[in-house]
Amino acid sequence: MQLTRFVNAFKRLETPFYFYDLDILDQTLRLYTKITRKYGYHAHYAMKANANPQILEIIHRAGLGADCVSGNEVQLALDLGFDPDTIVFAGVGKTDKEIKMSLQGGIFSFNCESVQEIQVINDLAAQMGKTAGISLRLNPDLDAQTIKQITTGRSKDKFGISGKDLTEALNVVNDCPHVKLLGIHIHIGSQITDMDVFVKLCEKMNTFQKWFEQRNVNLEHINMGGGVAIDYENPLGNPISPFETYFETIHNNLEVRKGQKVHFEPGRSLVAQSGFLISSVLYVKKGQGKEFVILDAGMNDLIRPALYQAKHVMYNITSKAKRKKIYDVVGPVCESSDRFDEFAKLPITERGDLLAICSAGAYGQVMSMRYNQKELAQAYYSPEL
Ligand SMILES: *Cc1c(COP(=O)(O)O)cnc(C)c1O
Repeated sequence: MQLTRFVNAFKRLETPFYFYDLDILDQTLRLYTKITRKYGYHAHYAMKANANPQILEIIHRAGLGADCVSGNEVQLALDLGFDPDTIVFAGVGKTDKEIKMSLQGGIFSFNCESVQEIQVINDLAAQMGKTAGISLRLNPDLDAQTIKQITTGRSKDKFGISGKDLTEALNVVNDCPHVKLLGIHIHIGSQITDMDVFVKLCEKMNTFQKWFEQRNVNLEHINMGGGVAIDYENPLGNPISPFETYFETIHNNLEVRKGQKVHFEPGRSLVAQSGFLISSVLYVKKGQGKEFVILDAGMNDLIRPALYQAKHVMYNITSKAKRKKIYDVVGPVCESSDRFDEFAKLPITERGDLLAICSAGAYGQVMSMRYNQKELAQAYYSPEL
């Protein structure tokens, strides 16, 4: 296994820690940018997936822009040298302070999620003597068929402007001299495995486009959001998402007008498989008809299993045992939901063994917290390790 070559280096480090295999990140970015270049598409990396500055630098160098969901993300992108013209800002709850600093920074587009937000941006821009580039984030009322907590495009979800408010939104745009409508945006959720969902998304976008055309609105760009899934079940064997199929699906189904730009916001699919959470086994303890493996990493380091019942493949990278057993793998935090896998099949595992938890590069380190006053896990990178 590819990770075994790092074991000696891992043994010298204090666990738990995040480990990023930058070769995987590099290969992923290379394929992604090769395809987007081929189609002439524009990509903004969704920073919330992983805002580790070293990872961001690499993504910036690969030529992507930034998709932000808070003022601090916008600020971080600006600080790291992302061209303001490649920064977009989404989110249902942008504060006045966040809007003002983004206007000051001269970002490309606010992806507006309500009618009232358009007015607020207009008023703040007027006070500052500026014009804000905006796009309308539309709620297509489409189920992404993914984990319910990361579905964002149904009418009952809080995200985007619903179809019934579209006329009002456009009227407000027309009454607001300090906003310029640049495009429309849809993002319906994350970890979307079914390509048919993307076909439907293209059809929704085509319908929205016609609605705007009938009202003589010229859209410079359309933004298809993120959501491409990764393979959580076979992370080492299949580390790169099916970008070819995804972009071919978009290309074949999306109606793009002459001169119009098409934008994307990949998050998870760029960074997830390059990240691993490396943890030591603290104890092996007998339970009722089972055995617990108790790790020094917990939900404070990687919350996805507790938050979404997400499953991450894990490997015992130090055990030499041939025989395997089913373990209930848990963390040290005082919550019963602090569990990585109730039925993990691992070689006979002992105190001091190292476990690698895969697919931890997205929504992992960035969501880590200091609950129970645990330290935040450090990050290390290959090949510098
Ligand atoms: C989270 C998010 C993304 C990225 O989604 P992934 O599934 O990680 O690719 C893109 N756009 C917006 C607006 C988001 O909130």
